[in-house]
Amino acid sequence: ACMEKSTNLKNDTNPIYLNASASVEERIDDLMSRMTIEDKVYQMCQYVGLEHMKAAESKISPEELEKNDALGFYPGMRSDSVARLAEAGKIGSFLHVVTPEEANHLQELAQKSPLKIPLLIGIDAIHGNGLVEGATIYPSPISQAATFDDALIEEGNRQTALEMRANGMHWSFTPNIDVLRDPRWGRTGETFGEDPFLVGNMGIATIKGLQSDDFSGQNNVIACAKHLIAGSSSINGLNASPTDVSKRTLFEIFLPPYRRAVQEANVFSIMAAHNEVAGMPGHMDKYMMTELMRDRWNFQGFYVSDWNDISRIDIWHHVAKDFKQSIEFSINAGMDMNMHGPIFDKLLIELVNEGKVDEARVNEACRKILEVKFKLGLFENPFVTVEKAKEVNFADSHQKVALEQARRSIVLQKNKNNFLPFAENGNGKTIFITGPNADNQTTLGDWVSPQPEENVITMVEGITEIGTKNGYKINYFDSGDRSKEITDENIDKAAQQAKSSDVIVLVLGENSFRHDWKRKTTGENIDRATLKLSGNQMKLADKMLSLGKPVVVVYVSGSPIAEPWLEQRAKAVLNTWESGAFAGQATAEILFGEVNPSGKLPLTIPRSVGQLQMVYNHKPTAYIHKYNTEKKKPLHPFGFGLSYSKFKLSAPTVSKTTFEGLEDEIKVTVEVTNTSNVDGEEVLQLYIRDNISSYTRPVKELKGYKRVLVKAGETQTVELTITAESLAMYDRDYNFIVEPGEFTIMTGNSSADKNLQTTMISVDSKIMLDKN
Ligand code: BGC
Repeated sequence: ACMEKSTNLKNDTNPIYLNASASVEERIDDLMSRMTIEDKVYQMCQYVGLEHMKAAESKISPEELEKNDALGFYPGMRSDSVARLAEAGKIGSFLHVVTPEEANHLQELAQKSPLKIPLLIGIDAIHGNGLVEGATIYPSPISQAATFDDALIEEGNRQTALEMRANGMHWSFTPNIDVLRDPRWGRTGETFGEDPFLVGNMGIATIKGLQSDDFSGQNNVIACAKHLIAGSSSINGLNASPTDVSKRTLFEIFLPPYRRAVQEANVFSIMAAHNEVAGMPGHMDKYMMTELMRDRWNFQGFYVSDWNDISRIDIWHHVAKDFKQSIEFSINAGMDMNMHGPIFDKLLIELVNEGKVDEARVNEACRKILEVKFKLGLFENPFVTVEKAKEVNFADSHQKVALEQARRSIVLQKNKNNFLPFAENGNGKTIFITGPNADNQTTLGDWVSPQPEENVITMVEGITEIGTKNGYKINYFDSGDRSKEITDENIDKAAQQAKSSDVIVLVLGENSFRHDWKRKTTGENIDRATLKLSGNQMKLADKMLSLGKPVVVVYVSGSPIAEPWLEQRAKAVLNTWESGAFAGQATAEILFGEVNPSGKLPLTIPRSVGQLQMVYNHKPTAYIHKYNTEKKKPLHPFGFGLSYSKFKLSAPTVSKTTFEGLEDEIKVTVEVTNTSNVDGEEVLQLYIRDNISSYTRPVKELKGYKRVLVKAGETQTVELTITAESLAMYDRDYNFIVEPGEFTIMTGNSSADKNLQTTMISVDSKIMLDKN
């Protein structure tokens, strides 16, 4: 009987679900009524793209292939067998399809299937659609967070959605809203840093840019908040290793961005995390996925597994006896789609037939996935025009936003006696550049394929162009890569050349460039045991510093570099993170004073790994005592970043001193005066402390910020708003409430006490925001 149903289409030339003027609900109902349980399960299956598989297949011997599939998990699975599954309508989604041609090819296969359900194609477009060659590469998420500029990040994501749709992709596995608590984690550059409020805002900006208000239409894609939950605080900083934080820490630190992504931006998918939290693997955490996110916080979208992670419930975590039981646990916990691989469908169908998984769960998953396909208009037109994709990729307007993000993301960490910017007229002076990140695509960061050279401005290219224009001579020496190639011989050669220069620019840092596996020093599955510069970089730096010339350090790295001794000796330190395709231009503009730096640190930069966990929003007792051999201050605090301007900030004034009830607001006003003769942008920050609370609260928490342009000699009045949420905490029963009492309001231009001025407000009676 089931099989008859799915061929129903043959007797029905104009089914409702293919009628674009019917409502999405009607279309889903109609299509679901034609689907067998098998068909519904197939929608829950995602596979990696065929080209990706073929590339992997070509790298291993036929004997190996015989034993296993190219990607190492499923015997017998090949790109050609996967193509046949698509043709039979047995696949709902693909990931990592990286050309419009392949996207079209897969959709053609799906159109041959009985129900002609189009495929949902997902990709990790986390800072631009970077896995696609020719895409606009925006700065990495950590750089984006350093801009403290939500609107600019939203704009970049709106453009990314356009590039994705033009290339046949509909779903981005972003934002990564893991709140970073351990920068050893190799994925630090993929995050928005350590603060829940900033991470939440950046996540929302990303989702709104990608999905728009409602993701219906040709210009939007769906977003994916990931990874539920707390993998950014794994024990030892190693990816996928266990997390063991308290329920309170989950609610205060890790969950707020997820709650907000759901409630303020209607994120339509969430990805579960590789890791366990307190013994519970993310992929079978029913409390997290269903009871909390869906039932309490009203998540409307669907869950996708991370790569092969349902099977890891048994293989890694050992809490299920086999893959089948893993599927049972995961689907019953709320999972809706399996990322990559066969067998899942067969086993899930068995589980439904055996009564171990309720058919309603499969219906729920399938409905959500179909809803996306209808809303995105895929039933009307699953194909894209290849020529159009080429036009939209790297469009001029996209380049402009990527460049602007880069300019605002770069953080000036040190500038001794205003050493920077370099004088406007170089008068023939020579700038010597060396270092492993000086002239390559490490500036692009993770989740990026190698990009056409003409689309990327390296540090050397940017500095040469702008430096030459200003009358400098630029001399570059390739030090070689940090690991083996910065040899003593290379260091000596660099020193020889540097001797005849006037200034040395050292471009140091790490490498998260995905396609450079042998040289990668950070990124996914490449975690750091130290935050020092890897390889022989310090040896090179020492030699350069010994020459007695002024040294400017330019860091390129998604994760922080803790080299206090180097920073002490350098004249200036510019942290450029991974600032994308225009890194070289933005950096050079700052070095030569065409752009005034204004980025702020989205995380604390510790002095050493031994200081970890080091975050600005720590609890009151964190630093009662001190270390024997290390300072208790960081190298640089959260929110910090210098400017070429000098700003004077007034103390905060408040519109009233008593906060009354759920809907109330208090305005906080600060005057920002630029006392220098250079125009500049400052990021005003608002922190709040709950002075006395029923559970200990952080010494301060970011609750507002605003980037403001202040012309030389002028003053701008900046207003920020305190809402009930800015004051709220979780009580004993995990209700989200504001407790009566006093709160300290702090404003300034970094999280360091010395940069903050305070005032006080109070709350008379308890306010309930969200009852458990
Ligand atoms: C990562 C995810 C990513 C997925 C698909 C996994 O290894 O953890 O963040 O979205 O791969 O590429």
